[in-house]
Amino acid sequence: MNAVELSLVIPVKDEEEAVGIFLAKVVPLLEALDDPAARSFELLFVDDGSSDATLAKIRAAHAADRRVRALSLSRNFGKEAALSAGLDHSRGLAVIPMDVDLQDPPEAIAQMVAKWRAGFDVVYGVRDNRETDSLPKRLTADLYYRAHNWLSSDKIPEHAGDFRLLDRRVVDVIRTMPERNRFMKGLFAWAGFKSAAVLYHREERTVGQTKYNYWKLWTLAVDGITSASTVPLRVWSYVGGLVALGALGYAIFIIVRTLTSGIEVPGYASMMVAVLFLGGLQLLSLGVLGEYVGRILTEVKQRPLYVVRETIGESD
Ligand code: UDP
Ligand code: MG
Repeated sequence: MNAVELSLVIPVKDEEEAVGIFLAKVVPLLEALDDPAARSFELLFVDDGSSDATLAKIRAAHAADRRVRALSLSRNFGKEAALSAGLDHSRGLAVIPMDVDLQDPPEAIAQMVAKWRAGFDVVYGVRDNRETDSLPKRLTADLYYRAHNWLSSDKIPEHAGDFRLLDRRVVDVIRTMPERNRFMKGLFAWAGFKSAAVLYHREERTVGQTKYNYWKLWTLAVDGITSASTVPLRVWSYVGGLVALGALGYAIFIIVRTLTSGIEVPGYASMMVAVLFLGGLQLLSLGVLGEYVGRILTEVKQRPLYVVRETIGESD
């Protein structure tokens, strides 16, 4: 196993058009890096169960350039698992996870490497703005970062994606984290280490379509929060306490009123409101409980995070 200086880890799912464009842009840029050592690099693609010609494209690229390596997963495991697979098989002293659609500008790599040389273990890219995103996506992203950082003690930097440079030490910490739920940004935040930011501009996707619809993003958000925080579980004790206090106050009021002005039969509205409100609260808290119990189930099953069907290039 010969180590290289830089590993780019690139998860790909149905990106046959993007692979060639990516290589044509990134390889010359890496070869021209000011830092001579960093010109020793590998490009590790993780084929996340593509059903198009993505793997064939990567195979051809490997035949032409041995610095291109790949893992092919046995099915689609999702980007987070694909990234974990990439981190496990990367050999660089620094690893940079990157999207293949060039939304993460390779020009930023030079700055990341410079900060790494200056002694930072994590150099994360922060988007200068979100104008390439639609308004609803911007708003929901904003809301998510706020909610996550409010609920969790591991703060994730706002508007920073998975595009970042990780020192080998950080990669090794991430690799020891056994959880099946791989919300990468949360794992990076938990690991800590000395980190710095570089600003970058996120372009539109070069070719192809985004693999994330709102439902997938919502699932990712729930994964992120449940894996980083237990506040949603604990909050029900407080809600319950408050409701019980309110109920006590109301009970005293009813008793006093009954004693002073006699028994009163009407009360349909207050009864209905109380029943529906409490029923709703109970279902909600049960739902939250269910989210966590479901996650405990996937964790205790201890299945592998991903299954590699094939490796292209020397395996380690
Ligand atoms: N991706 C993946 N597995 C998936 C979905 C996406 O490996 O199940 C890859 C995809 O090929 C791309 C990266 O993850 O390289 C980011 O995906 P995308 O551009 O669709 O996300 P967006 O930029 O819209 O958030
Ligand atoms: Mg993209």
